[in-house]
Amino acid sequence: MSLKGKTAIITGSTSGIGLGIAESFAAEGMNIVLNGFGDLKEIEKIMADLKKKGASGVSYNPADLTNAQAASAMVEKACEEFKSVDVLVNNAGIQHTAPIEEFPPEKWDLILSLMLTAPYHLIRTALPVMKKNKWGRIINIASVHGLVASPFKSAYVSAKHGLNGLTKVVALEAANTGVTCNAICPGWVLTPLVEKQVQDMAKKDGTDFDKAKEKLLSEKQPQIEFTTPSDIGALALYLCSDAARNVTGTQMPIDGGWTSR
Ligand code: NAD
Repeated sequence: MSLKGKTAIITGSTSGIGLGIAESFAAEGMNIVLNGFGDLKEIEKIMADLKKKGASGVSYNPADLTNAQAASAMVEKACEEFKSVDVLVNNAGIQHTAPIEEFPPEKWDLILSLMLTAPYHLIRTALPVMKKNKWGRIINIASVHGLVASPFKSAYVSAKHGLNGLTKVVALEAANTGVTCNAICPGWVLTPLVEKQVQDMAKKDGTDFDKAKEKLLSEKQPQIEFTTPSDIGALALYLCSDAARNVTGTQMPIDGGWTSR
């Protein structure tokens, strides 16, 4: 089964993991709806690059997904533009760390609304389209923090556990319709955000990038190796394949052994 000409919405795809997934999908000739914040010139460059990589069509939707209406409207706009939504990747996310007693309520609300409520609105709007087509793939980018916890990440861990729960419910409700719903649970992924964290750690400890990388990774992962956005793109492509038609409701770690400890 070819993915050529199928349409994918990937939230938060102007950077990091979302961009890695967009690049993998572009190489299969899919239509890509990009979303996320960033400099418009940079985004235009990304769009041109995705076209060069093989995307059938590329559009950019600047929706702030903490706005429920804007989230649903993104599905409607994609249907107008590309006639359908076949794949939905809920990826946009942010982080804030603080002990729970000091965790700002507005940060809690922001994280839950972007990382749990927005996927709900996108799924509830896209699912009827996919069911009508008798084919669809919903991929939620959760985290190891949807399976286990770390201190000071109360909102993030709660949102990701919630997203894994939502994944299971949608999988049950969509069973036998041709639509699957799965979650990918990455450990440390080398994105610009994490790269900066490693650089800061190296500066603070007076070491180099490789030593700081080893320190960061070894706290959690038996394998001292970052996952890359293109590794996640390859896993997302597998979930879109015919071979994965009976894979639904799963939470797939790609975490260098983090959750095996
Ligand atoms: P990133 O910061 O590189 O990308 C986040 C994307 O979300 C950007 O495109 C950003 O513009 C977009 N975004 C932020 N707020 C938004 C909003 N209100 N509306 C729409 N878009 C918004 O981050 P990343 O590391 O690529 O993370 C992507 C996803 O993967 C997140 O859900 C994150 O929790 C998850 N994740 C990341 C890691 C990691 O190590 N990097 C590990 C596990 C899970």
